[in-house]
Amino acid sequence: MQTKTLRINPKNPSISQIRQAAKIIKSGGVVAFPTETVYGLGANALNSKSVRKIFAAKGRPSDNPLIVHISDIAEVGILADSIPNTAYDLMERFWPGPLTIVLKKSKIVPKIVTGGLDTVAIRMPKNKIAQGLIREADVPIAAPSANVAGRPSPTTAKHVKEDLSGKISLIIDGGPTKIGIESTVVDLSKKTPMLLRPGSVTLEQLREIVGAVRIHPIIFGKKTKTIHRSPGMKYRHYSPNAKIILVEGANANQKISQLLRQYKKQGMRVGILSMKKNNAKSDLTRFVGSNPNMIAANLFKSFREFDEKKIDIILAQGISQKGLGLGIMNRLGKAAYKKIRA
Ligand code: AMP
Ligand code: MG
Repeated sequence: MQTKTLRINPKNPSISQIRQAAKIIKSGGVVAFPTETVYGLGANALNSKSVRKIFAAKGRPSDNPLIVHISDIAEVGILADSIPNTAYDLMERFWPGPLTIVLKKSKIVPKIVTGGLDTVAIRMPKNKIAQGLIREADVPIAAPSANVAGRPSPTTAKHVKEDLSGKISLIIDGGPTKIGIESTVVDLSKKTPMLLRPGSVTLEQLREIVGAVRIHPIIFGKKTKTIHRSPGMKYRHYSPNAKIILVEGANANQKISQLLRQYKKQGMRVGILSMKKNNAKSDLTRFVGSNPNMIAANLFKSFREFDEKKIDIILAQGISQKGLGLGIMNRLGKAAYKKIRA
């Protein structure tokens, strides 16, 4: 299959270009498109056959659920049942934006979208191209991240091309995504809200609106065998070919310098994922940023760069788990081969 790239201005998307892409969704195909978090691979959420194409292109296990993207709050009532008031409070505060809300699914949502679960994850993205695409396709769009399963989520159209070229017909290039890590996922289908995936809508912000929010143990890297709530969470996300060593604690800097010398002596190619200006001599030092917003925006891109440069070991320093830091540390922790306290 020939993969076409359509460049669309994210600030002022041309309606005729959006319609061109929407036509593919309407006729049952899949399209990669930008959102404010990462690039998504979308299809008509109400058509099982279309949704199956997403799983096929990604090589995604069939019990890993997708997020349904909408452009109008009214669609929530069609996709979900027994919606609590707290859900509407969250929608009002954070939509359109990087928050996914898990609710009891209605009959209309095919099981393939929810990975066989009786819940559905719904989000209204803020990115204008994403909004336009959903509106013009005139159906909810099911979409996971537009990467091959096991690779980091794409934050540019180039990343999507690397993974999915030849497997899908259209990639919309809307420039680099603003946020860079996937949406926050909160489950409101049970009595107490539960954070399933941290992101740029923070735990602190959620608690301000809905009160108590539990945190799923897997967010802290606990290995649980019985995660029926969300099979999506049982899959390891990205681990680079390089081994990430995540170093936390007051002496992290010294520890990283020591590990750098040690691994270099062993003849390895060592990279540093740097969050402070750092003059240590590694084979590839990627400064991802000194504040959480910058770090999130550059994190997945840096993972791909380390792999391109055939790095064996990536040394990364931990950051505070406050605010967006929880989401960043969650992604780093999931990708890490080893965690060290120094
Ligand atoms: P991706 O954006 O590629 O990570 O895919 C969507 C993610 O959303 C899944 O991996 C799950 O973590 C989450 N998700 C989707 N649907 C549900 C659901 N019904 N219950 C819990 N989590 C969900
Ligand atoms: Mg993904």
